[in-house]
Amino acid sequence: MLKVYLKKGREKPIRNGHPWIFSGAIRKIEGNGDPGEPCVVVGDNGTTLGHGYYNPKSSITVRMLSGGEEPFTEEILKKRLEEAINARAGILREGGTDSCRLVNAEGDFLPGLIVDRYAGGLCVQICTAGMERMRAGIMAALAAQCAPSFVFERSDTEAREREGLQSEEGLRAGVLPGPLVIRENGLDFIADPVGGQKTGFYFDQRENRALACAYAGGRHCLDCFSYSGAFGLNLLSGNAALVTSVDSSKISGQWRSRNLALNRFNASRMENICADAFDYLRAVDRRYDLIVLDPPKFARHPSEVPKAARGYKDINLVAMKKIVSGGLLFTFSCSNAVDVRLFRQIIFAAAVDAGRQVQLLHVLSAGPDHPVSIAHPEGEYLKGLMLKVL
Ligand code: SAH
Repeated sequence: MLKVYLKKGREKPIRNGHPWIFSGAIRKIEGNGDPGEPCVVVGDNGTTLGHGYYNPKSSITVRMLSGGEEPFTEEILKKRLEEAINARAGILREGGTDSCRLVNAEGDFLPGLIVDRYAGGLCVQICTAGMERMRAGIMAALAAQCAPSFVFERSDTEAREREGLQSEEGLRAGVLPGPLVIRENGLDFIADPVGGQKTGFYFDQRENRALACAYAGGRHCLDCFSYSGAFGLNLLSGNAALVTSVDSSKISGQWRSRNLALNRFNASRMENICADAFDYLRAVDRRYDLIVLDPPKFARHPSEVPKAARGYKDINLVAMKKIVSGGLLFTFSCSNAVDVRLFRQIIFAAAVDAGRQVQLLHVLSAGPDHPVSIAHPEGEYLKGLMLKVL
């Protein structure tokens, strides 16, 4: 088997469970490794640290699958999938939520694999060459464990490009119903694993939407970056007086209207606006009782952090200026490269410049179907703050 030897002093993170090895930590490689080749990782003193898979095309040269002497087998793969799927049992409740993330890559000790459940079907993303080699085992285990009505593959991530892989998309099993209805927090949503963003729905915000629902009563809410209206509908189910939804994508307005109708909300309770959220907030001359800011990733790479930080500060600053005294702000960043500390500093700077005092009520993250290994802080991409703006 391909052997990857680490440099002296570079073993500790791996021993502690970090799943990534960058080329700079590698002393030598024995054997010829094609992308995705299984490998054994050896410390400087010759001890076997564990097993993983190798890709010389990626800046993450090795991703670890298991520690110790035992190689990673299809049996272990099956067991990991089963554990991940079983761990979601508490989230999937009849009448409440029938869809969520089932496998969260590194967070479920399966680097490079994402599986989302859409009602009875599955949407799968294979993001690395190593996972690509386990494709047959993954598909067989998912079929056996979930008996899905369809398996749609949506392997079109940027990560795949960095691995030197082409996009792969298509129906792998069953019958695809087209856009389908999923249930979250007791609300119905049309989701489209084929044409929608990400794998079609942002499951990571489920708990944060439920929290927003609990605070919405009687308030005029502004849902910026609203996509298919998942925050907005949760706000309405919490008896918001009115929700104004803003998104720059024209088609997302149609999804919001369909989702409103699907849940039998009176159409007059949501104002649907197609606009740039920065422009909208700057120009609008009224104030809101509650604002949600859930923008797309502003930093795709650590080199983009300064620009992203300006973007986050800017949007939060204008939002704070458009909030009533005592109003609530739910603000998020899904940029991996902007960590929790930096995000909080940015929000603080925005509050100072807006001339508003701010109280921190809740510190937010992705829900429990997006577990993060504590050894792998890079997996903690979604961070949020819920603030009272005085
Ligand atoms: N809040 C949503 C997810 C938001 S995803 C949910 O809970 O499901 C980010 C959204 O921001 C996308 O729908 C995208 O169309 C929109 N977007 C991106 N740039 C924007 C901009 N400058 N102004 C307004 N919307 C924008």
